[in-house]
Amino acid sequence: MNEPEAPTPDRPDRPDRPDRPDGPDRPDLVRAVHLGHAPNCSATGSIVGDMLLSATATAVLINSVAVWLASRARAPSRDEPPPRLRRDRRGGVLLVPSTAPVGPARVELTERGVELALAGGASLVGRAHAPRRPPDEVHFSVTERCPVGCSHCYINATPKGRDADLDQALESLAELDAAGVHELALGGGEAGLSDATLALARDARRRGMIPNLTTSGAGLTPDLAQQLAAVVGQVNVSIDPGLRGASASDLGWRALDLLQGAGARIGVNTVLSASTWPHLDTLASKLAARGIGEWQWLRLKPSGRGKTSYLEDRLTPAQRLQVWPRLLDLERAHGLRIRIDCAMVPFLAAHQVPVESLERAGVYGCPAGDRLGSRTADGRWLPCSFAGELTDPKPTPFAEAWAGDALLNAWRSRAETPPAPCDQCAYRAVCRGGCRIVSAHLTGDPLAPDPECPLVSP
Ligand code: SF4
Ligand code: SF4
Repeated sequence: MNEPEAPTPDRPDRPDRPDRPDGPDRPDLVRAVHLGHAPNCSATGSIVGDMLLSATATAVLINSVAVWLASRARAPSRDEPPPRLRRDRRGGVLLVPSTAPVGPARVELTERGVELALAGGASLVGRAHAPRRPPDEVHFSVTERCPVGCSHCYINATPKGRDADLDQALESLAELDAAGVHELALGGGEAGLSDATLALARDARRRGMIPNLTTSGAGLTPDLAQQLAAVVGQVNVSIDPGLRGASASDLGWRALDLLQGAGARIGVNTVLSASTWPHLDTLASKLAARGIGEWQWLRLKPSGRGKTSYLEDRLTPAQRLQVWPRLLDLERAHGLRIRIDCAMVPFLAAHQVPVESLERAGVYGCPAGDRLGSRTADGRWLPCSFAGELTDPKPTPFAEAWAGDALLNAWRSRAETPPAPCDQCAYRAVCRGGCRIVSAHLTGDPLAPDPECPLVSP
């Protein structure tokens, strides 16, 4: 296979490519770059696709960030708010604003990179010596209310579902800010139906965090679209042809119209299932025609109503093996940027995508309880938003839950010391053992190897 072109500015939101990359790749400053925002299960965080086939492309990406850091250190900007920086044991994590040529991005820095970021005016958040690295992003359910009734809804949302208490949710948000969490993924149920969504998004923005949103489009009005566009980092609209009914689909397309008209940064979420799989080409054409730059593919999860027909709805083994080649084909044919969620990293591993490229482009499988946390509408902390049926933790302060919760600790240990065959897998550090929710449903043990990984069950 020919080595593809490095990322260029004509691909939406890819970093500008310097005319002459400023010297060699700069791993002394930057460890990994997660491009884009994190509106949902996107803790893998970054561009996948052609970039991962080329060591040159990931080097250009790393170098672009290094050049931006150095230029900012020489001349700190007075026009932009200072970027948010959290220290960790290996350096730090910097939230690069969307106004920067390499933004928006979440960048893992070395100690040297941290020094440069501070010289450029970055503002330090979080505790310098926290006992455990806080998550980079937290999924924040503002309501379990939703009228759409999707058959695969992961929390059994209904029209009468409970709403989050706004005062308690704002307290939680303050805790997350103090811990140094950078991004929120606001969702539901249908977050567009809750007044808490805008209140939380505004408070997060005031704190320098990035609030993102996932919506089916229910409850979205032209006025709400305008207000969201002014405050939210990115809104992802769920469009799942074949899996949702026609009226739900109409809601999604209408939401895209409203949000695009309001100038919001938008993406589209599609759950890959046996039902949506035949529609991907048509959907890709429609998204490209509308100028939607970012398309997020999510693996179907067997939680909530999604458990009922999971065995019929999930991708077949042959389709799982087709995810990566199909993604490349659709990206190239339509100029789309396709992201995959945390649960689909095992499907890349089967194609021997270079591990180093995956690491440096910020691809990171199962971040549950590690780089990802989740808050339920009633204020409980979970390792990931799909795990509500696997545990019943009491609402406690975030710091206490994050440091001491038994489920979170068990899931972290599982990623660090996985059972066979993950223990011998070259992708272990990037994949982290596949999806616990799938393992729990299919084997009864969330800590078992992901049975749908092509390397676990060839
Ligand atoms: S358990 Fe599955 S859905 Fe949850 S963070 Fe891990 S891979 Fe993602
Ligand atoms: S064998 Fe385990 S670590 Fe390797 S790709 Fe599969 S699930 Fe991930």
